[in-house]
Amino acid sequence: MVRAEGVHKSFGHIEVLKGIDLEVAPREVFCLVGPSGSGKSTFLRCINHLEKINAGRLYVDGELVGYRQKGDKLYELRDREVALKRRDIGMVFQRFNLFPHMTALENVMEAPIQVKRESKAVARERAVRLLDRVGLSDRAGNYPAQLSGGQQQRVAIARALAMEPKLMLFDEPTSALDPELVGEVLDVMRGLAEDGMTMIVVTHEMGFAREVGDSLVFMDGGVVVESGHPRDVLTNPQQDRTKAFLSKVL
Ligand code: ATP
Ligand code: MG
Repeated sequence: MVRAEGVHKSFGHIEVLKGIDLEVAPREVFCLVGPSGSGKSTFLRCINHLEKINAGRLYVDGELVGYRQKGDKLYELRDREVALKRRDIGMVFQRFNLFPHMTALENVMEAPIQVKRESKAVARERAVRLLDRVGLSDRAGNYPAQLSGGQQQRVAIARALAMEPKLMLFDEPTSALDPELVGEVLDVMRGLAEDGMTMIVVTHEMGFAREVGDSLVFMDGGVVVESGHPRDVLTNPQQDRTKAFLSKVL
């Protein structure tokens, strides 16, 4: 579903991604961990067309991200083409960024109506179903300010799912939450995983990675240091940098 081959990304003269190679299979829960500044968010943003890579190749569902290839030349995609591709990728951030002036239901209905020109009735029916799926049927009429952080994050997940993405990206979805609210968000993500959603999850929740993850990559300094099955990497890390990191977060 996602393939990175020698992906490089720089900001000015600072190289943040220094040749990332990895592959995410369909239906896989792919956990990405690493210290602050290692390039995890940047990598997710590249997948989601929020940043353009400088070298290498990045594919989502077999298609190049950000570029079109003709012969051996690459051409940057136009904004319109990028917008079309972004529809298929859902992203959930640390901060929920819900529209504050809309109810939970309206937040979930918004993108399909605005982006896909869907009818209100169809969008509403799906939104009701998705709010039920994240356990918030009784909160449909609430505004974000009337919801807890965990509830807001679950609305944000429902909102991303409303576009029926083939890939979901999670960037530390629980790190802004009070500890007692983390579980309810992870439970929703676990449910998504069980339903076969392909997910890339940047997280410090090693329990989640171990129980739900199919693979785990440890990144540091813009490179993949170590990867494997979460149980193997977490219980038997091979690299000193991985050991040092895990000793701090486990
Ligand atoms: P964290 O765990 O703190 O979220 P991260 O692994 O997600 O860290 P990134 O946010 O990808 O790390 O940042 C990697 C590096 O790239 C950092 O040094 C950051 O300062 C730099 N960086 C990210 N975005 C930009 C930008 N738009 N312009 C310049 N530098 C940037
Ligand atoms: Mg980050």
